[in-house]
Amino acid sequence: MERRHYRVLILGSGPAGLTAALYASRAELAPLVIDGMQPGGQLTITTDVENYPGFPEGILGPELMTKMRAQAERFGTVTIFDTATAVDLSQRPFRVTTAEHGVVSCDALIVATGATASLLGILAEKELMGYGISACATCDGFFFKDREVVVVGGGDTAMEEATFLTRFATKVTVVHRRGELRASRIMQERARVNPKIAFEWHSVVVDIQGTREKGITGVVLEDVRTKQRRVLAAQGVFMAIGHKPNTELLAGQLELDGLGYIVTRPDSPRTSVEGVFACGDVQDRVFRQAVTAAGSGCMAAIEAERWLAEHGA
Ligand code: NDP
Repeated sequence: MERRHYRVLILGSGPAGLTAALYASRAELAPLVIDGMQPGGQLTITTDVENYPGFPEGILGPELMTKMRAQAERFGTVTIFDTATAVDLSQRPFRVTTAEHGVVSCDALIVATGATASLLGILAEKELMGYGISACATCDGFFFKDREVVVVGGGDTAMEEATFLTRFATKVTVVHRRGELRASRIMQERARVNPKIAFEWHSVVVDIQGTREKGITGVVLEDVRTKQRRVLAAQGVFMAIGHKPNTELLAGQLELDGLGYIVTRPDSPRTSVEGVFACGDVQDRVFRQAVTAAGSGCMAAIEAERWLAEHGA
């Protein structure tokens, strides 16, 4: 990376960031994309993506992201494998400090930093994350060959993870806090008909038993109606209880909602700061799909281009 100043700088390299980069580069704005902690975003830790239009047979998440990156780079996008450690929106040009490439400035900033898997907040998670607890079946499922595992959550992610884990595990128990799943019908059906998947309804995980040395031996479940507790034997626990927006760098500088998502205008990806735009999961707690993220990335780039033209930047 030779330049220190860019007209458009994009934080994040998931579908939102890379689509914003595609549009900005085709508008000859030669944007810089700072990849972030997880280059390619959340799709790089999924397997088959069946709901991205244009791929009737489905496509692997990492492959889709490689294609998006290549498409953006073809038109002059510069991407760097780095993370932003600080952002200063108090004056223009905006300043972004990176871990490896020093400080970069920009006239317009597009925030596409996405969201990260939520955890339950119990002590055992801190102690045993990576030692039998995971938030990514695609990444860690293989380690649970011929074991019994638990998936926490009742959404599409939980169903997808549970179904995927049956490739390895002998039994997968989905622990859900209600008596009804949130997941879409097709994902529910796939899980329900799978003979290796069992469900524990109206239950929450209040503790996870095990040690770093020996791994996990069981989870303590509590029935939310009776408060009765019991131990379910398991050697792995996969968290699938939703996501948190990655907005720590922006707190106090941009308007965020009560859950930490960036507030954008109802009809546009403009944020509370002029010249700063947001797209993808960092501003969307409703749809959170690759295709909606890509769509909002396109909108952010078009709005950034218009804003730059209006401001002569
Ligand atoms: P969701 O927010 O949809 O679901 C989270 C689940 O976790 C809910 O069942 C929720 O329970 C439960 N939960 C949340 N917090 C807790 C807690 N503290 N303790 C216990 N349970 C908890 O998140 P997902 O990650 O499943 O899905 C996100 C989006 O991504 C959705 O729009 C989904 O459709 C999409 N998606 C699509 C896929 C596909 O089409 N292939 C695959 C994966 C995701 P409750 O229901 O009671 O609120």
